[in-house]
Formats: sequence, structure tokens, C-alpha cells
Amino acid sequence: MNVALAPDRHPRTERIFLGPKLLRASHVHGRPEGGIGHWCPGCGVLHVIAPGIENRGTLATPDFDADFDLKWRGFGLIAPGGRCHYRIVLGLILFGRDCTHRLAGITVPLPDLPGHLRE
Ligand SMILES: [Zn+2]
Repeated sequence: MNVALAPDRHPRTERIFLGPKLLRASHVHGRPEGGIGHWCPGCGVLHVIAPGIENRGTLATPDFDADFDLKWRGFGLIAPGGRCHYRIVLGLILFGRDCTHRLAGITVPLPDLPGHLRE
């Protein structure tokens, strides 16, 4: 797994905005070393990419040469497990059919980071 799910806010996280769609997080839950973060419209959370995987596109149209595959366990009926499997190509986020969220199999523009992350 080369991406971490991240809650919107983390008291120990320092964020540096790299443009409208990407930020660099110093520390996030599940990835203490930090990395490049982007908003996932399928999961509705920030995903943070492992250090060493860099944007080879522009800030307006990010592009990563990587296949991101997140799987997480559930906690009974309260929080079911899931999967988010995607690529980011030329500013688009291409979700695999094996995703468990509503955007499975769909390609959408990588959204701008939501305003509440900028507070
Ligand atoms: Zn996701």
C-alpha cells in the first residue's frame, strides 16, 4: 500500500499547499512520515501518497506514475471495510471497478482541495 487514508484534521500535521489540488503533509495518521496529499471524491477524505512518488504533471493537472490501492478493515457494522483503487493521470482520477465507493469504475477530474483543509 502506498497511500494512507487521512482524517481531515490532525493536530500534529503541518500542511504546505502545492497548488489547488495538492498539499504536502508533514505527518498524518497511517503515514507518520507524511507525503503528498490530495482529496479523494470517492472516499471523501484526504489520501496521502508515499514519499518518493512525485507529481510528474503540473500543479493544475497532477500526474503520478503509480497505481494506488488502499484497503482497510472494518469494525463490524459501524464502519465497514473498503477499498479505493485508482490512478491519477493528467489531472484525472481513474477509479477501478474494484472500489467499494460510489465512484467505482468512473473517471472524474481530480478536485481542488476543499476549503476546510485550508483553515
Ligand atoms: Zn479514496
